[in-house]
Amino acid sequence: MTGPELAAIRKTAGLSQAELAQRAGIGRHAVSYWENRPSVDLRAWAISRMAKVLELPKPPALGWRLRSTWERDLEAQVEAAFIARVIRLRARTEAAAAKRRVICEAKTRKGTPCRCKSEPGKRRCKFHGGKSTGAKTPEGRERIGMAQRQRWAKWRAERLNNYQA
Ligand SMILES: [Zn+2]
Repeated sequence: MTGPELAAIRKTAGLSQAELAQRAGIGRHAVSYWENRPSVDLRAWAISRMAKVLELPKPPALGWRLRSTWERDLEAQVEAAFIARVIRLRARTEAAAAKRRVICEAKTRKGTPCRCKSEPGKRRCKFHGGKSTGAKTPEGRERIGMAQRQRWAKWRAERLNNYQA
């Protein structure tokens, strides 16, 4: 059996990688590891767990006993190395995203998009909210809400005056 065949069996069962991993009691990376292999070892531990959820071919009967301990250790090491690589790669992607700077493009008073660079990992520049994600405490939220209510009340009063004048 090949990795893509294993993936096809999983999809036929209507399971995502994460769902299969959860039901089999293994890590999600173990599922993606085997689905990306050119050939699937039916005697591997993770595969034996998947076989409890999916209908996989039976492993060769004698194979398990004939395989030496170091063979199984090697397989576990290869699998662990792959999982470590996936985790490292994801950490690097996340670190890059946290440092990424884009063009702010907030609407300026002129009506044109802001050309400043955003704060690292944020969408907006330091002038357009890149430094702040807003009030968090109940007091802070109440304070900003009050300021906005006063601002719009003033705006409505002025509009009424202009209308009557
Ligand atoms: Zn800006």
